[in-house]
Amino acid sequence: MFNKILIANRGEIACRVAATAKRLNVASVAVYSDADAEAKHVDVCDEAVHVGGSVAAESYLRIERIVDAAKRTGAQAVHPGYGFLSENEAFANACEQAGIAFIGPSVEAIRAMGSKAAAKALMQSASVPLVPGYHGDYQDASLLQREADRIGYPVLFKASAGGGGKGMRVVDKSEDFAAALASCKREAASSFGNDRVLIEKYLLHPRHVEVQVFADRHGHAVYLFDRDCSVQRRHQKVLEEALAPGLDDATRCAMGEAAVAAARAVNYVGAGTVEFIMTQDGQFYFMEMNTRLQVEHPVTEMVTGLDLVEWQLRVAAGEPLPLSQDQLKVHGHAIEARIYAENPSRGFLPSTGTLKHWRSPHAVEFDIAGDVRVDSGVRQGDAITPFYDPMIAKLIVHGRDRADALARMAHALAKCEIVGLHTNIEFLQRIVRSEPFSTGELDTELIERHHDALFAPSTVSRKKALALACAALLTREGGEVHGHSPWDALSHWRMAGGYSQDLNWRAVDGDQALKAVFTKNGNKQLQLDGESVRFDWLHTGETAFTAQLDDALIKGHVFTDGDVFHVFLEGAAFAFEWQNLMAHAGDTEHEGRLTAPMSGKVIAVLVEAGATVEKGAPLMVMEAMKMEHTIVAPTVGKIGEILFGVGDQVADGAQLLMLEAVAAASA
Ligand code: ADP
Repeated sequence: MFNKILIANRGEIACRVAATAKRLNVASVAVYSDADAEAKHVDVCDEAVHVGGSVAAESYLRIERIVDAAKRTGAQAVHPGYGFLSENEAFANACEQAGIAFIGPSVEAIRAMGSKAAAKALMQSASVPLVPGYHGDYQDASLLQREADRIGYPVLFKASAGGGGKGMRVVDKSEDFAAALASCKREAASSFGNDRVLIEKYLLHPRHVEVQVFADRHGHAVYLFDRDCSVQRRHQKVLEEALAPGLDDATRCAMGEAAVAAARAVNYVGAGTVEFIMTQDGQFYFMEMNTRLQVEHPVTEMVTGLDLVEWQLRVAAGEPLPLSQDQLKVHGHAIEARIYAENPSRGFLPSTGTLKHWRSPHAVEFDIAGDVRVDSGVRQGDAITPFYDPMIAKLIVHGRDRADALARMAHALAKCEIVGLHTNIEFLQRIVRSEPFSTGELDTELIERHHDALFAPSTVSRKKALALACAALLTREGGEVHGHSPWDALSHWRMAGGYSQDLNWRAVDGDQALKAVFTKNGNKQLQLDGESVRFDWLHTGETAFTAQLDDALIKGHVFTDGDVFHVFLEGAAFAFEWQNLMAHAGDTEHEGRLTAPMSGKVIAVLVEAGATVEKGAPLMVMEAMKMEHTIVAPTVGKIGEILFGVGDQVADGAQLLMLEAVAAASA
């Protein structure tokens, strides 16, 4: 085994690898960018080397600097994690040239699987089932059209050099072919520097099922069973589970063996994932092989009880695989949810900012043997920046069976509290509790098909949440006066024989004014929505409050950030801002300001100063974390000054341009 490894990554995967290294008594070296100088992965490793600027191209993607850091620190091996350089053959090669073990497959295997088209050709010769399609070298438009007509519509274009869903286009009929081809080629060329495409039959309601494989240098190759990753948004995985529900033993075994055949076809070494697309009746076809550890590897760890990073290190150090195929066993069921800093109701727009408050369920970090595990690369107080992937944490649960794991996941998600960023936690809960997911009716269109239910307004009572906010406010403003009611100290609240106080709130989402009236006149009362109820409360510890509304007890958590009260109740999150009239006396309205919804780069300016625009007209396009966001006119108006140009980096909340509202012309 190695004495020291360098982890060429950041975030949760760097922390994940470091945890295993520590357990095996292998020293770890972190690399970090400017933005990550104080990041958790730097903290958990034994040493750290600064490799450059915040943008990945200036740090985590700089091969020579990372190899140099490994040499200087005496690391014998490099673990690339996932993303960044993990599937970069030049990086694997540079490590090899420097005499440092690359914890991954050979340069040849990475290259063979790097091109979707070449990989398909190879798989065809290894008799791995392929989706009907065309992946030839010849790219003439009329030939491609003939091939698409032959395959039968709908068909799917993919960029041969692609990944991450980029360049993919569905074509429903022959007439749409030319336009879709041109647009796929354009995106492929700009994203991957290569406009080669391939065509596949577009399968309806497919599942994404993948197989974890492992191979060593001694000719052994095994599969560590499968995962279902069908729940996706924009072709990105959201929930993953092991094993894939509903597969019969024959299919499971055939798929595992096909995956091993795929690995053997490229003399694979280390951890890899063979992704299949599966029809509802269990036909499966090779999609691609990822030559690295996957984000969702923990579900496989939870059901097999094995540490896959340990296996990676052992294999890279030249040891044989620890277990043979018939020694591998599955226990129970595991589900992973990816918690992202993003706003589902605004098209999953990434959210940046500081994690002001983070309470996770009772979970153990990177724990393979437990029931609830959290893998995360950030801590409370850390920032999610626009430079990297906005994932906050992965929540992984293990249960006796799928129903048990589902219940545990719902419970764990309900216990997650995050303040400072938008998150997808509530959205994840809805999926987990939804009929199709809980009955295992999985396919890649689950989110789109159930859009209305998944995005419906919360059914958790806002009134109850507001009552908790009132309880927290009264606790805070009332102070602690022993032996007296706290209200005795606030004489201006006194009225004949009691007290009355208006509690003015603003619902942060929706920007709506809400009013509550608290009275203490013999007993305590709270008036909400014009209805007065008996009210009392207990502050049961830190953020925990119990409120009594007539005979109902409501338990929840309230985290206060200045005058914004974040209420966590029954798995839903609410934010109410206390309208402390004294504190707001100096505020002015910022009408006509159009501000950046996130930190990012301006990639297009669509209007000129002086132009008159309609409500909803696109004005500017920004990009952050590989996602585009269009700034539109909130009202009819005239464009004033434009404060940023194409290529400018803009901070979250910065004013982008001025818009002068124009009154609609009167008839
Ligand atoms: P990428 O490498 O860009 O992520 P993949 O080939 O892995 O692309 O496909 C990503 C996703 O697109 C799959 O998980 C699946 O949801 C969908 N998909 C891919 N191929 C097909 C197909 N032939 N028919 C239907 N959906 C597909």
